[in-house]
This record gives sequence, structure tokens and C-alpha cells, in this order.
Amino acid sequence: MLETCGLTENAKQAVIIDDFVEMAEFLRDLCAASSYGATLYERASDLDPRTLMEADVIFLDLSLPDIDGVQFMRQLGGLRCRTPIILISGHSSCILSAALSAGREAGLNLIGALQKPFSIAEFDALIDLLEGHAENSLLTPLLSPEALQEALDNNRIEPFFQPKIDLERLEVCGFEALARIRMDDGRILLPSQFIPTANECGLGDALADRMLILSLDAWRDWGARGADWSLSVNISVSRLADVQFPDRLEELADLWGIDRRQLILEITESELLDHHPTAMDTLARLGMKRFSLSVDDFGTGFSSLMQLKRLPCVELKIDRSFVSEMHQDRHCEVIVRKSIEIGHELGLIVTAEGIETQQDVDVLRTMGCDQGQGYFFSRPESRQQIAMSYIEGFAA
Ligand code: C2E
Ligand code: MG
Ligand code: MG
Repeated sequence: MLETCGLTENAKQAVIIDDFVEMAEFLRDLCAASSYGATLYERASDLDPRTLMEADVIFLDLSLPDIDGVQFMRQLGGLRCRTPIILISGHSSCILSAALSAGREAGLNLIGALQKPFSIAEFDALIDLLEGHAENSLLTPLLSPEALQEALDNNRIEPFFQPKIDLERLEVCGFEALARIRMDDGRILLPSQFIPTANECGLGDALADRMLILSLDAWRDWGARGADWSLSVNISVSRLADVQFPDRLEELADLWGIDRRQLILEITESELLDHHPTAMDTLARLGMKRFSLSVDDFGTGFSSLMQLKRLPCVELKIDRSFVSEMHQDRHCEVIVRKSIEIGHELGLIVTAEGIETQQDVDVLRTMGCDQGQGYFFSRPESRQQIAMSYIEGFAA
């Protein structure tokens, strides 16, 4: 630990982890101006986890002498740390946004990032976000294992669906199922609020089974009304560790008369890297059984292209962090363009996530990207809402 600057006893507390002393001190002064006391650390390994849990905000430099910021965030995810985190780094905005995605995937409260050198206005803007977030997070903390069990028991798990758009024809070609929990008071919880709990307390498989059955049921219903769409579902690494999964899915597909090629199983690139010894077997068997596999969040997992070649996948989904930054950051633009080229060279369908503007659509179409998903087209919606919006003659 370098030093502590406490202000008054009741002041909110920041933890600053940065080995560049001048930067840590500059942040400490900015924190003091916003009425935050600060404790400075040069290394992540100097920290007692309790200090982090009790802090009001953590400023984390991505490059530290002992362990890098992304690895450290993974550790914090394992500790179920809910303290808001602001990343700081001299790396490109592209790397920062990928690190933000990685932290959020680990279930952490990432508020945003400061790219060095940053201005006081940028710092203040993040403090404003932090204070707004503090109010929201009181309303929506990470779900406890008991509350998740209760949600499962009382059928509160619900798939929402986001359309995938064929970017050439500008038509809906499929839907991705995304898990939600509908609370009694009408609040809808997002995966970041309950998937970390599910994975930690052994409810991941129960949640995945429920999501699969409910999503397939909606999909079958739409098919019976004449819709010809693919269905994408997210598969966690614990599913890939389960050697029985391909056989069970095959049985279900036969029983329900499912077109297997139209059922797309999405596996995030980072989960593939943490791969379980049986994950490749399971993926190979799913491919042999003619289910379609997709690499989700491509670009965030730092995988080698060799790995992509080894996978029997049909689709590559470019992570939204690159899409959202591609107009400002040349590196992101190159990553998006080259990912499309690589995907096509490997015979894959390339889908861009996080399309939020007409400009995103125009650029991606020029780059030859096949499909797109994002708030510009639609936010994820309930099964009922999808049927009303996209199936002619459907009445609620
Ligand atoms: P994902 O599979 O990459 O899903 C896309 C996420 O991006 C969704 O967040 C979606 O709401 C969000 N999104 C879509 N378009 C936009 C946009 O234009 N802008 C922005 N800012 N965001 C957009 P969501 O629903 O919160 O899900 C987060 C992640 O949780 C998913 O990322 C997926 O990895 C995981 N997940 C969701 N449902 C399940 C599930 O049933 N099982 C498993 N294992 N993971 C799930
Ligand atoms: Mg997905
Ligand atoms: Mg994704």
C-alpha cells in the first residue's frame, strides 16, 4: 500500500490500484475533489479482498507488475465482488472496451474506463455515472442463491428474444434467446444479475434446461404460425463439460421435430479458452449431430485462429465492443473488417452484435457482414411481443 487519504470518517472510499505513482496521486486528488477518500496500492496482490468489498469504488489499472487487470477482475468475479470498478489504462480504447466486456462477463459492476491521459471532465463524467449507478444498484443487486432457486421454483425464468437481421435483404432471419427473470414487482432482471449466482451455486444447469425448453417452445409455436427463423441459444461451458448433453439435445430435437441446422448453439470465445477437457469432445459431437455452433463475443477471448479452425462452427459473432467503437477507433474498425474477412475465408456466417445506429448498419453492409443484431433493430422482447410484432395476424 502506498498511502491513505481518508478525508472525514464518513467520506466514501476509493481504492486506487496503479503502479504509476504520479497517476495514482493524480487520481487521489481528483477523488478528494469529489469527496472520496482514497487508499493507493501499487500491486493487486497487496490487497486484502475485504478492503475491496467495503470500498465504494475501485480504480484499476489494466497493467500491473504482478497480475494484469483482466486476470485480477476474474479473481474478483470469483469473490462475487459487487464494488463498482473503473478501469484505467494507456491501452487503446479497443482494448479497454474488450476488458470492460470481460469484466462484465465475470459478473462485475464495471462503470466505465478512463484512457490515459484523461481530462478532469472525463473523470467527473464517470463519477456522475458512478453515483447514478449506486442508486440503481441498491435496487438491483446480484440475486442471492435462495432468490434464484425461488425464481426457478415459481417459473419466473423467461427467455426474451432479439431479432437477427440479414443485412443484405434487411429482413429478420432468426432470434437469439436471452435469459431474464421477471420479478413480482414487474422488474426484469438481466443475466449479469443472476448468471454468476447460477454458475456458482450449482443452479446453472437447471437455468439452462429451463431456458432451452421455453425457447424451443416459443420457436416451435412461431414455426407453426408460418415463421421460418433460426433460433440461437447461449450455452455455458458447464454444459460443454457434460458429456451427455449432445445425446439429450438430440433426443429433444427428435421428439420435438426440430430442424437442427436452424438451432444455433452460441459459445462465448472466452469460455472456450477456459476450456474444460471434455468441451472439445462435446462440441465435436454437437457438430456431428448437425447442430449449428457459433462463436459468440469473437475478439474478446484472445484466442488463436487455429482454435477457430478446429471448431466445427458455422457462425462467428463479432463482439459489440468492437462494433460500437469502430467509427472512433481505427483498430476496432480493422478488427471488425478483418474478422468478417476471416469468417468468410473459413466459410462462416459473420454476425455483428451491438448495432445501434444507421451508420453502423451502413458500414457493416459495405464490409460485407452477413447478419446483425442490436438495439437499432430491436431490444430483446418477450415471446408474446415478438409474435405480435413479427407474425402477421397474431393477436395477444
Ligand atoms: P450475448 O450472447 O453476447 O448477448 C448479447 C447481449 O448484448 C444481450 O445482453 C443483449 O441484450 C445485448 N445487446 C444486444 N444489442 C445491443 C446493442 O445494440 N447495444 C448494447 N449495448 N447491448 C446490446 P444480455 O441479454 O444482458 O445478455 C448478456 C450475456 O449473458 C449474453 O451475451 C450471454 O453471453 C449471456 N446470456 C444470456 N442469456 C443466457 C442464457 O440463457 N444462458 C447463458 N449461458 N448465457 C446467457
Ligand atoms: Mg449470445
Ligand atoms: Mg455476444
